[in-house]
Amino acid sequence: MYIIKHPSNLQRLLVQLTAGKKSLGFVPTMGALHEGHLSLVKESQKQCDCTIVSIFVNPLQFNDPSDFSKYPVTTEDDLELLLEQKVDYLFLPSREDIYPDGQPVAEKFHLGDLDHIFEGKFRPGHFQGVCAVVNRLLEIVKPNLLFLGQKDYQQIAVIRRMIELKKHKVEIITCPIKREPNGLAMSSRNERLAPKEREAAGAIFSQLQMIKANIRQTPFALLKQRAAEHFQMLGFRPEYLALAKADSLDELSEFQESVKTILLCAVFIGDVRLIDNLLI
Ligand code: AMP
Repeated sequence: MYIIKHPSNLQRLLVQLTAGKKSLGFVPTMGALHEGHLSLVKESQKQCDCTIVSIFVNPLQFNDPSDFSKYPVTTEDDLELLLEQKVDYLFLPSREDIYPDGQPVAEKFHLGDLDHIFEGKFRPGHFQGVCAVVNRLLEIVKPNLLFLGQKDYQQIAVIRRMIELKKHKVEIITCPIKREPNGLAMSSRNERLAPKEREAAGAIFSQLQMIKANIRQTPFALLKQRAAEHFQMLGFRPEYLALAKADSLDELSEFQESVKTILLCAVFIGDVRLIDNLLI
């Protein structure tokens, strides 16, 4: 595995790849890697000649400074996992490489409603930060395929919009959510849960499944109330639990058989904020 820190070095290598007409798969991450990230890497290795993973904890996408300062950094373990997985390139840019002069980009990405609903509503500025970093990474890496996890469902819609706006020539491949044995969606933030909380956190997925199983015969408002009571009993604090059109993310008050639908939620356990979703 080549570890590359400077964009210019990476670009030199990439010129050789393009000359050899090799297809390039890209998996951007913020490190603290787990099986979820590795599933994206494996999919890229299946579909592309070469795979490049980046690790960059993007300060711009953290609306909560304490979330940023507590974000786990496990570089040694990450390296080991990527070596084991025989990844071709690991890109480890510095803040200055991503944001020239260390300054956040002033560019505003016009994301429409996506910027103001669900994650956009509760994490103001988050998606602008996501767009800034992914746009810059795509400018540097210029991959053929971009591998993203369904875990961050709204983020995929946002990145798709940004790709259209910036006319990047890249195709998004969405990979399914990897879960822990109790159903909890794998996340770097799970490390911050106490063992008992982590076990109980399986309830997030089981409540989404409960809603999915009953949505055709019970009003959504009632199911939402049932889930909220269950979360309350466990001491969890749901931020939102919503039904939306799977493609536009327009919120729905009720399930309609003819519309591809997604259930989305964010739940606090203590000060750890977890998100999950389930396609219906
Ligand atoms: P992050 O390091 O959290 O920014 O995530 C990097 C990529 O991994 C994103 O495309 C995420 O959606 C994806 N990812 C994170 N957790 C999971 C998971 N449990 N299953 C599948 N993909 C995931």
